[in-house]
Amino acid sequence: FWRTMDKLGKEIPLEAPWDAPHAEEWDKMTMKELINKICWTKSAKEFATFFVNVNVTSEPHEVSALWFLWYVRQCGGTARIFSITNGGQERKFKGGSGQISEKIMERLKGRVKLERPVVRIDQTGDNVIVETLNHEIYEGKYVISAIPPILTTKIHYKPELPSKRNQLIQRLPMGCVIKCMVYYREAFWERKGYCGSFIIEDEESPIGITIDDTKPDGSFPAIMGFFPPFFFFLILFSYRKKKICEAYAKAMGMEEALHPVHYEEKNWTMEQYSGGCYTAYFPPGIMYSYGRIIRQPIDRIYFAGTETATQWSGYMEGAVQAGERAAREVLHRMGRISVNEIWMPEPESKDVPARPFTTTFWERNLPSVPGLLCLLSSTVCFTSVAAAGLFAYKKGLLIRN
Ligand SMILES: Cc1cc2nc3c(=O)[nH]c(=O)nc-3n(C[C@H](O)[C@H](O)[C@H](O)COP(=O)(O)OP(=O)(O)OC[C@H]3O[C@@H](n4cnc5c(N)ncnc54)[C@H](O)[C@@H]3O)c2cc1C
Repeated sequence: FWRTMDKLGKEIPLEAPWDAPHAEEWDKMTMKELINKICWTKSAKEFATFFVNVNVTSEPHEVSALWFLWYVRQCGGTARIFSITNGGQERKFKGGSGQISEKIMERLKGRVKLERPVVRIDQTGDNVIVETLNHEIYEGKYVISAIPPILTTKIHYKPELPSKRNQLIQRLPMGCVIKCMVYYREAFWERKGYCGSFIIEDEESPIGITIDDTKPDGSFPAIMGFFPPFFFFLILFSYRKKKICEAYAKAMGMEEALHPVHYEEKNWTMEQYSGGCYTAYFPPGIMYSYGRIIRQPIDRIYFAGTETATQWSGYMEGAVQAGERAAREVLHRMGRISVNEIWMPEPESKDVPARPFTTTFWERNLPSVPGLLCLLSSTVCFTSVAAAGLFAYKKGLLIRN
């Protein structure tokens, strides 16, 4: 499954997935259809479903195959997106990533206005006018909108948005997940040599994947897990907590998991100014028809936000790339930089360089089910030809020298 995903993904241009040779065909397909096509065994199908659930907090039947193939590719491929070591899930920020926004806000000294959702953008005059829900008015030469596309439907525009953009923003729902933290007195799983990261394949378990979220100094031992949409029927907080602890106890074979000291959860689908998480997803048919306008400015409104990135879209990294690109687009419009300077590649991290993944001989060469069948049929074919030859030889049908 992974090899096929990476192979198909290579066809897709990062900055223009709608131009891929099979873009139209793959965009009409859901990931569920693609999984059914390329996975032959029940366990492969289940893993592929889990892979979609975990990476984009949505169901394979909800997302476009083109979009998901692109999504995985722009995160460096299946191994990079999924791995902890050397992968997308490797690093955390001491003290939490929220500090980045807070520290930037401190440096901007009062220029960041919180709790003032924008409700109106008017570009009919010399300056762009932005009005917030509490009726404050801000003016500027340009606006960079860095909010998830669907949330921009809450804003009133003058002049109205062009029809394609107006349609696009109605078609990009947010993923759906509850983030759950279970705190324990001690990191008891370490006694068994477990790192705290589990993939739980159990129909009874509401959590599919976990990560140890103990603080770097060893305080607040915790297991973090994501609660996917299809378990949202477990509506009671206390019942969710109980089911999660039971699943952890079963997975680890340790009854200590049944006795947490604290439980926290965050239901991102209830956040009015996020709408869900981790990111927006493209249902079938949208990327090919509307995708190309996601970064197109509307006069003096420019678009950033992780959904507009071409690398690590859906992640913080993508949000930074998008913000820098949108800022440079404005600088270009102001005549400060040339068009070639808009897309500057992000320099490779010196502290955390992405190392190539080493794969084993078997990972590279073991045949997939179709490959195996192909091999078997050619072996059967070869054996039949050999047997027929031997038979003909024995019967004297072949000419002997
Ligand atoms: C539970 C969870 C776990 C995640 N884990 C990771 C991870 O491990 N690694 C990683 O890299 N990424 C992770 N992400 C994704 C990451 O948080 C996002 O990709 C990133 O925050 C996107 O940044 P952004 O600036 O595009 O948008 P956001 O961070 O969503 O910022 C948009 C801002 O716009 C505001 N807003 C909305 N509407 C309006 C309006 N009308 N007017 C003004 N402001 C408005 C919102 O309040 C918000 O502050 C996770 C996300 C979630 C929810």
